[in-house]
Amino acid sequence: MDTEITRIMLDLDDVCNQFTAHAMQYVGCPDLPFPVECGYDMVAAVNKRHPTKNDWTPEELWSTLGRDLWDDMPTSCIYPWILSRCRELVGRDQVFICTSLTDNIECTAGKLGWMQRTLPAWLQYQFVLTPAKEVTANPYTLLIDDSHANISRFRSAGGQTMMIPAPWNPYKRYVSTLLLDNLQTPLNLQGAS
Ligand SMILES: [Mg+2]
Repeated sequence: MDTEITRIMLDLDDVCNQFTAHAMQYVGCPDLPFPVECGYDMVAAVNKRHPTKNDWTPEELWSTLGRDLWDDMPTSCIYPWILSRCRELVGRDQVFICTSLTDNIECTAGKLGWMQRTLPAWLQYQFVLTPAKEVTANPYTLLIDDSHANISRFRSAGGQTMMIPAPWNPYKRYVSTLLLDNLQTPLNLQGAS
């Protein structure tokens, strides 16, 4: 039986927003169908789907993603619902956005600007900016994330987890019972394996 959860770490990219699809479109790729064989590797996915260029390096791709990428970044279909559900479950003081920054200062600035413009006022000082999300793990804390690697590390560190279904992850193996009944309806499961 799960320990009662009193804190939620909520991933930003591809949970609160449509980062991967939007970034692929930004560099000239169709975002659908997502090449599921690439897994959680956007560089590989771009190389697979780009109509004219198939030799992107990670450095090249990340440096191409500019601040303006974030100016019209769409929120995800579950964003309003999941944010209000998290707030209901643990209270607004215990909901944190947990997201990783890149080494591209333009992308970082754009992401922070997007967060300030888009996220509600009550959440503005509750950001944890790290790729090492597991440093926040404990039995009372739930990570909601679309990355299989993030979920695995968080669980190994003693945290509770719920993986958001995405074409790049094996979501069924890691979905917690918490929220599940409510999550399946609003999520688009197409492409998830
Ligand atoms: Mg993510």
